[in-house]
Amino acid sequence: MLEQGTISIHTENIFPIIKKSLYSDHQIFLRELVSNAVDAIQKLNMVSRAGEYTGDIGELEIQIAIDKDKKTLSITDNGIGMTAEEVKKYINQVAFSSAEEFIHKYEGKSDQPIIGHFGLGFYSSFMVAQKVEIDTLSYQQGAQAVHWSCDGSPEFTIEESPRTTHGTTITLTLQAEEEEFLESARIKNLVKTYCDFMPVPIKLEGEVINKQKAPWRESPSNLSKEEYLEFYRYLYPFQEEPLLWVHLNTDYPFIINGILYFPKMKPDVDVTKGQIKLFCNQVFVSDNCEEIIPQFLTPMRGVIDSTDIPLNVSRSALQGDRTVRKIGDYIAKKVGDRLKELYRDNREQYISAWKDLGTFVKFGVLNDEKFKKQIEDIIIFRTTAKIAEKAATATPAVEVQSQEGDVWQDVTSPSQESTSSTPYTTLKEYLERNKERHENRVFYCTDEATQATYVELHKNQGLEVLFMDSFIDTHFINFLEREYQDVKFTRVDSDLDNTLLDQDKAGEIVDPKTNKTRSEVIKELFEKSLNKPKVNIRTEALKSDNPHGTPPAMVLLPEILRRLREM
Ligand code: ADP
Ligand code: MG
Repeated sequence: MLEQGTISIHTENIFPIIKKSLYSDHQIFLRELVSNAVDAIQKLNMVSRAGEYTGDIGELEIQIAIDKDKKTLSITDNGIGMTAEEVKKYINQVAFSSAEEFIHKYEGKSDQPIIGHFGLGFYSSFMVAQKVEIDTLSYQQGAQAVHWSCDGSPEFTIEESPRTTHGTTITLTLQAEEEEFLESARIKNLVKTYCDFMPVPIKLEGEVINKQKAPWRESPSNLSKEEYLEFYRYLYPFQEEPLLWVHLNTDYPFIINGILYFPKMKPDVDVTKGQIKLFCNQVFVSDNCEEIIPQFLTPMRGVIDSTDIPLNVSRSALQGDRTVRKIGDYIAKKVGDRLKELYRDNREQYISAWKDLGTFVKFGVLNDEKFKKQIEDIIIFRTTAKIAEKAATATPAVEVQSQEGDVWQDVTSPSQESTSSTPYTTLKEYLERNKERHENRVFYCTDEATQATYVELHKNQGLEVLFMDSFIDTHFINFLEREYQDVKFTRVDSDLDNTLLDQDKAGEIVDPKTNKTRSEVIKELFEKSLNKPKVNIRTEALKSDNPHGTPPAMVLLPEILRRLREM
């Protein structure tokens, strides 16, 4: 027969499990207690804005105090406090939070979010404390202050407290093996890590130790370039200034705020490991967002703050999560938008950033169809074209000039390598510029050192050559060939006769003094430059580079990162 029922839980058995295994990391108890204190202060603000509290709210702050003799650590806030009923409801019942009810009641009364949610954080204090006491007075008129005490067994006591000011003090008597939390340096460090951007001053030994201001929660239009740079320096001290940044802020279809920077590639920049800090409501969660941001953006740094990223699932589940994937797409799109904006508004800056970013952009294009569509027109290549010669007749190649007083000027150091006067071009510009000379043909060089003479030859023939000589370019050329099926891509050292010699003109006399034909002159020049009696042209070279066709571009990233590290 069918039987139905409710599973029951024995507090005595489950309580030790909650205490020991709620979180893998003991130190997060501080984050939990400080976030409760921040919430209590936000709540008082909201109640006051709703006109339900008319008293003086004073300077709202959190104080952390250490008593080494008594082996106690206490966290005090002057927030909303709790009545005896609230203590019974929200503290005595595990997994019971006041957050939802509160937000519902005071909706729109705060621009700061309430952090709490699950009603579990408070109990993390038992991971480090043998005894936890609460001393609290509610802001409500006529409330009686309450003292709650629990020694880690499921039994507690509640009695009256002599407290006279609204707010709450949580006092932990630490377990013998957790006395490291009596060191103020340790506490300061933890506050810096987890609570730095919480919007309330946190004091330790009378001194405010958190930054409070979270720039990523500002509207982008309120932040100056200097403020973005200052935030970068704050997060990554002693690092060169970033190449560019994007400010993430959207409420739909998911909530995310953040600022991501693309660093300058330097040997001391470890790009193999994600360096983005993940926050949830300004509370630090983790140092690693690898599952969230698209792989080709691994070198990016900065901050992501979202309540829509599931935090209690495994990393692989995170990667499969639909919202997380959408967030990844959104980030890629923001980066693409930023690149396009830079390309349009400041080509010089774009080109100099390209030297560091280009590889990753190409990698993104190979891997991400949407990103490809978005930025394919702004992929640039170094070229042999000379602007001075071409400017009058065709679309000029982009020439990098000295950086003049524009917004981006001081973003990169002036000691750039020789970008200045190195021209770059898009494929479209290249094809347009050379339309009459060689329609739908592209000549490219994959290795400047070994193909220099071929490049020279092409230049002497008035043919423009693109440099596709980074390690990702072998794959990128395959991609270009697939994308531009009507364009013939020819490596400078392959297929020499067809390439360099217009067959019709091969026999044309070009040197009236010696009666030498075009083909003879070229051959001579070529042999001379190679200092070899015979020219050995490698037509199959490209194919042998890549015997199994294009490998999935994904396998390239470790290689890219390895090489960048060696740079
Ligand atoms: P959560 O923060 O997710 O709600 P907690 O276990 O951390 O869960 O706290 C449970 C409840 O206890 C909170 O929702 C709040 O109502 C109450 N509480 C905890 N700390 C404080 C405090 N410092 N001031 C006022 N209320 C508090
Ligand atoms: Mg909490």
